[in-house]
Amino acid sequence: MNDVVIIGSGIAGLTAAIYLARSGISPVVVCGNNPGGQLMQTDCIENYPGFEKISGAELMMKTMNQAEKLGTKMVYERVLSVSKKNTTFEITISSNEKMKSRAVLIATGATHKRLGCKGEAEFANKGVSWCATCDGAMSKGKPVAVIGGGNTAVMEALFLSNIASKVYLIHRRDTLRADEIMQKRVFAKSNIECVWNSNVEEIIGDTKVTAIKLNSGKTIDVSAVFVAIGVKPETEFVKDLVELDNGGYVISAETKTSVPGIFVAGDVENCVTKQAVYAAGRGCLAAQQIERYLGIR
Ligand SMILES: Cc1cc2nc3c(=O)[nH]c(=O)nc-3n(C[C@H](O)[C@H](O)[C@H](O)COP(=O)(O)OP(=O)(O)OC[C@H]3O[C@@H](n4cnc5c(N)ncnc54)[C@H](O)[C@@H]3O)c2cc1C
Repeated sequence: MNDVVIIGSGIAGLTAAIYLARSGISPVVVCGNNPGGQLMQTDCIENYPGFEKISGAELMMKTMNQAEKLGTKMVYERVLSVSKKNTTFEITISSNEKMKSRAVLIATGATHKRLGCKGEAEFANKGVSWCATCDGAMSKGKPVAVIGGGNTAVMEALFLSNIASKVYLIHRRDTLRADEIMQKRVFAKSNIECVWNSNVEEIIGDTKVTAIKLNSGKTIDVSAVFVAIGVKPETEFVKDLVELDNGGYVISAETKTSVPGIFVAGDVENCVTKQAVYAAGRGCLAAQQIERYLGIR
């Protein structure tokens, strides 16, 4: 019987592990297919306090080592399902082994949808980004493209319009899906140009992105491409257990879920901010809630 099984080894899950391990609990982290989480995909983080500039891999290796040194057990498997029997949780992992635990933390994050076009993978971190807050500053005074037409795409475009010289908002339809008020803000910005009925066929570059080619045949010079066509939270394995919102995110109240004993932290929660430092903070809060639940705080 474990005290707590943490599902996910991103910054949220590992921060929770560090706090729990330091309070005398031996947490188990089931790492999933992507040990270290989304941050492993980025070469350059410039907004994580304490590090002026650090690669995602270095930050996450340091965090994993810290958690392990404090007594966290890492299990390099994926969780397939979680069930509750009385006050005990049974967690089935990809090796088909079953683990028992008194508490569970869901920290499985989210996956950004990909365009799937030529050049997207090749220029990831070389101008192709899924986060304007993370990478927008690198496009100061340069033209950029945002792909998408929902609230996220529009928010990214508005944010970037204060940094970039010009923002092309590329949308596959002839109207935006974003809220009316957000649309009005976009149309009021002189340096945002909506490019309607268009899909990106290719992202072009040399060492970095230099242009995009649309299905109309048109080529637009840009220094970066921000893909904002949707995010999928990793909640399939708990969809029949905890309450989710319409987007599939776990509904949380101060990291508590609808099931006593199951907690949630990070990008998988229904919160508006998807940033590393925030996910770490939520991991800290979840750890303290778990300590209270287990009666050690
Ligand atoms: C390319 C890129 C660049 C970014 N740059 C920045 C930046 O510069 N600054 C910043 O603040 N934020 C940045 N972000 C956002 C940041 O990465 C996320 O906010 C943060 O990683 C969220 O952490 P998390 O722990 O909630 O989830 P994640 O990092 O998504 O981790 C989820 C973990 O859950 C695991 N998992 C999933 N399903 C299962 C399962 N069934 N069983 C077991 N484990 C599972 C995965 O393997 C992974 O380890 C960036 C994101 C991307 C994609």
